[in-house]
Amino acid sequence: MPSEFELIKRYFTHPARHALLGVGDDAALIKPARGMELAVSTDMLVSGRHFFPDDNAYMLGHKALAVNLSDMAAMGAAPRWVTLSLALPRADPKWLKRFVKGFMDLARKHKVDWIGGDTTRGPLNICVQIVGEVLQGKALRRDAAKPDDDIWVSGFLGDAALALAHLQKRLRLEPKELQICLPALHTPRPRVNLGKKLRGLAHAAIDISDGLLADLGHILERSGVGAAVEFNLLPKSGVMEKHAEQKAARQALLAGGDDYELCFTVPARRRGEVLGLSRQLRLRLTRIGKITRSKGLLLLDENGKRMKIDIKGYDHFG
Ligand code: ADP
Ligand code: MG
Repeated sequence: MPSEFELIKRYFTHPARHALLGVGDDAALIKPARGMELAVSTDMLVSGRHFFPDDNAYMLGHKALAVNLSDMAAMGAAPRWVTLSLALPRADPKWLKRFVKGFMDLARKHKVDWIGGDTTRGPLNICVQIVGEVLQGKALRRDAAKPDDDIWVSGFLGDAALALAHLQKRLRLEPKELQICLPALHTPRPRVNLGKKLRGLAHAAIDISDGLLADLGHILERSGVGAAVEFNLLPKSGVMEKHAEQKAARQALLAGGDDYELCFTVPARRRGEVLGLSRQLRLRLTRIGKITRSKGLLLLDENGKRMKIDIKGYDHFG
């Protein structure tokens, strides 16, 4: 059994490219570039709550970092530095190697330095803290949506939740459909480039981790506005279209969580710029409704009639 220090040396020490000091001291040293603010966020993944204990280690490594990158994306920040605190039931070299590879592959892709952390024995628990840089005063906040803004989302909604619903036997997907939806659940792609490009274009932004309704709801509440969302405009994958009549699928679409897409608001006159960005990034961006002066979230059917919302987003204590 390797000691804690051997573990750190063997698995957790990687060269830091833009830190003054990385792993190995009592603290890492970092310095933001001139004119930049630091964006700081942390997200924890708990076994049995956010993932199954026997989930693939590579995917866990990927997801632990991905959900944190997604928070940087939602702020319009460039992710720079992460720390990883890990409670492990045992030091299993095979598991550790796969986990670290999943984490590092994504870290390299986004040029993020892994500069420290903590390691202890205990029930599997993965906590990442991330620090990013954003131009002074330019971060995308939840409290800046304005009446008549268009509301946009990236990608498709609900595919991750469809996969989870299948695994939990609340809905049945064909093997081929499951294969399409599983990557959304296990290896989400944080929209970091989109977030950076939305600076100076979007008024408000959030990443969808608890479902569209809940997360858009946060923008509305913080901005003191309401929204009218058209159900038919919501971006649905082929798999979602096929199952859309089932309640579990509608739940996944509107309130599923684990999407890690961005929801953002942009003045209506700048619609063309958003569409241009979509082409440039080769990323589907869909206008789903409007910010309204009157508060509350309305969901409208194809005739503009109000639909009943009988579902809520994920709430750990709800
Ligand atoms: P301390 O006793 O001061 O908390 P540790 O022995 O926990 O120090 O950590 C020693 C060094 O190893 C520190 O630089 C710490 O950031 C790093 N480290 C520990 N665990 C991890 C980890 N899981 N990932 C990255 N770095 C780690
Ligand atoms: Mg420590």
